[in-house]
Amino acid sequence: MPSDQNPGERQKILILGGTKEARELAQTLVENGHAVTTSLAGRTMDPILPAGEVRIGGFGGAEGLAAYLRENAVTRMIDATHPFARRISENAIKAAAETGITLDQIVRPRWQKQPGDRWRAVATLEQAADLLPSGATVFLALGRQYLDAFVPRTDCRFIIRMVDAPEKPLGFFDYALILGKPASDPSHESDLMTAYGITHLVARNSGGPAGYAKIIAARELGLPVIMLERD
Ligand code: NAP
Repeated sequence: MPSDQNPGERQKILILGGTKEARELAQTLVENGHAVTTSLAGRTMDPILPAGEVRIGGFGGAEGLAAYLRENAVTRMIDATHPFARRISENAIKAAAETGITLDQIVRPRWQKQPGDRWRAVATLEQAADLLPSGATVFLALGRQYLDAFVPRTDCRFIIRMVDAPEKPLGFFDYALILGKPASDPSHESDLMTAYGITHLVARNSGGPAGYAKIIAARELGLPVIMLERD
């Protein structure tokens, strides 16, 4: 977590959020007396709201973000977004450069392979889809914008977890939907994988504790994991 650079001086801070780390940071900075606004993209219907002010929705690119920073007299911006949310992080770098406002980034360390892990690292979703053997029952714990590459694999069954129900049916030939957030207890994740007869897990190397239970569960069950790595 970035340190409080000027303790005692009240700052106007914009946190680019949508993560647990962002909520924890907002709490700390509000408690330290700063004026904190957290920005959320608006992807989930019922987000857990952080301490301080909250604004929801895109800014309109780097230019829009720069305009927001100026109009709201922000003195410091903190990018605490998910490590796979790349566009907003790029926009934050550009907007900080344009306005001269300090930007701190919270970088979540990636998960490291442990003894017993059966990971195949891939760089793209298409590579992940290609690696699945015919007849696999695949747990896609990815987020909805990462699903399309798997639709052509009509020879596999997909178990798809997402926070909110999709607005229209997904285009998969054979799939089941699980609505909800990842469990924090690995035994819940392994019960789910066993109940659905999962043979392969596809995950992104997000790092952090929130999604790690499924990785532990796959290790304990001896399941192969196709792991989308970050750049
Ligand atoms: P992205 O691809 O990097 O961003 C796409 C666009 O969404 C951005 O250009 C921006 O629109 C808007 N946006 C993204 N994050 C925003 C924020 N915090 N506040 C306001 N606008 C935001 O992002 P993404 O992968 O769709 O993720 C969206 C949000 O969900 C992020 O806040 C991230 O922390 C959270 N999240 C993402 C994941 C994930 O798997 N990607 C997982 C957990 C949480 P404009 O250009 O119009 O400003």
